[in-house]
Parts: sequence; structure tokens; C-alpha cells
Amino acid sequence: MPTTALAILNRPSLAAPAHREGAPDFELVDVDAPQVRVLDLGVTRGDGVFETISVGDGHPQALAAHIRRFAKSAAALDMPEPDPVVWEAAVRAAADALDPAHETYVKTVMTRGLEGDGRPTGWAYASHAPDHMRARTEGIRVVRLDRGYRHDVAQTSPWLLAGSKTLSYAVNRAVLREAARRDADDVVFVSSDGYLLEGSTSSLLLRFGDRLVTPGLDLGILPGTTQGDLFAFAETQGLSTEYALLGADELLEADAAWLVSSVRHAAPIRSVDGIARPVDSDFSAAVNSYLISRTE
Ligand code: PLP
Repeated sequence: MPTTALAILNRPSLAAPAHREGAPDFELVDVDAPQVRVLDLGVTRGDGVFETISVGDGHPQALAAHIRRFAKSAAALDMPEPDPVVWEAAVRAAADALDPAHETYVKTVMTRGLEGDGRPTGWAYASHAPDHMRARTEGIRVVRLDRGYRHDVAQTSPWLLAGSKTLSYAVNRAVLREAARRDADDVVFVSSDGYLLEGSTSSLLLRFGDRLVTPGLDLGILPGTTQGDLFAFAETQGLSTEYALLGADELLEADAAWLVSSVRHAAPIRSVDGIARPVDSDFSAAVNSYLISRTE
């Protein structure tokens, strides 16, 4: 069996016509064969939305939350609503088509399709996951980078789509190259008025004593499915959880900090702008074993 698989959706949204009348809802196709047209707006404009869902021992994790967020991102782009039933089935089918492995993932993509056509393009791509063990155990070095937007950008300028998971992720990739130039592995975005936001593809979590804190979800950042599940887990461990407005320097004052996301799960932060920070290895290990073993 393969290490990658691909399901192409015939009708990604019930609000738009099917690509092929009477064809199945989705089909598993050859990953290496051409599937997307060169004038697809997802390709030419980054005009579309996506999700990346971790799969543990064959179980897609936080799938309902991912599909809800997929729909929220689509709504922010005035795209037709993704059909949750067909997307869930396509995710499971793509995941099941892989050679069984402990950690895999599925990426769902829905683009606006060809200009003027009105039918979104949709696919679910599944793959074995890269090995993130080092980041989870040894930790990662981050640098704080100004995102250039105020903390209230989502309220003042919703057209900037802050907090939506769009295909326009060139900036999220560029900052990783900037991090590498600064001898770091990842970034923590800071608003132009000095508040902690999120990582390039992750949510930020700080621990102060027995309080676990994450930047508030009204800051134009993505509401993390991992952060959501992790808060529920932390509460079972006797920690309190909180959404807050955090100043940039609170990252240097926390007892421990993590970047958390699907697939990589919880990566403890071991340095900030070259300054060493304490890593909470026990909690990191407990959190990661919880995240990896989720069955839904
Ligand atoms: N913030 C951003 C900008 C992201 O791209 C992601 C995930 O890719 C996250 C946060 C974390 O979200 P999740 O935990 O649902 O993977």
C-alpha cells in the first residue's frame, strides 16, 4: 500500500453544481497524475481554503472542528459552503488508502475553481507524516516577528482575512526562511502594537504556574484545533486555561511555552530571539502522548 493517497471531490459544495453529473461524490485517483487545471484560481491567486488534519493510527483527529473551520474560512472568502458529509468521507477514504502508520495526515483543499465557472475544486491528500520527534522532545528556537497588523485587525479590516486558513500562505513560508536566517526554527508573530499572536502554522501556549494561557481568538489569529483539545486535556490535569491579551515580553516571562498544531503537535520553545528558555519536558511528553493517541 502507498505512503500517499488522493481523493478528488466531484461536488465539494452542495451550493454548486457537480463536475460530472452522476459520478461518485469522490474518487481515489493517482497522486502523480495531473488533476488541477493551470487556470484554477487556487493556483493562480491562492484563492481558496485548506485544512491539515492529523491522523493517529488511522483516526482523523479533531475532524469535526477542522471541517467547521474549513467552512468558516470558506465563508470568509465568500466561497460556497463545503459539504461536511462528502469532505468527512473523502478524508477518511484518503487516510484509509494509506499503508497503516502511527502518524499520518490529510490535507483538504477547496479552491474557487476556474474563473467564472462557479464550481469549486476540491481534494483530500493523505500522506505519512514527517518525523517531528526532535521538535517535540528537544524543543524549537523561535524569533518574534512583527506581523505588521494591529491586534484588532480582524475587527477593523475583515477583508484582510486574518484568522482564516486561506491558500495564500506564501508569507507563512517566507517567515520560516527569515527564522532560518536568524538561526531559528520557527516564529512567533507579534502585532504591530506589541501583542503575542501565533506561530507560522501553529498556536502559541504559555504556562504561568498552573495557568495555561493562549492569545485571545479575537486577535486575527486562527482558532487552533490542537489548542482547543489541549485546553480540555490540561483541565483534566488540574491546570486552569485562559484566553488573554499578552504583551510580547510575556513570552520571556512564562514558565514554559509551546507552539502547538496538527501533525507536529506540541513543540516546546527552547529559545526566544536567541535567549534560552526553560523546557517543561514532562508536560510536553504528556501532552504529546495525549495528542498522538486521540481517536477522534
Ligand atoms: N495558526 C496558524 C496560522 C496555522 O496555520 C495553524 C495550523 O496550520 C494553527 C494556528 C494551528 O491550528 P491546528 O491546531 O488546528 O492545526
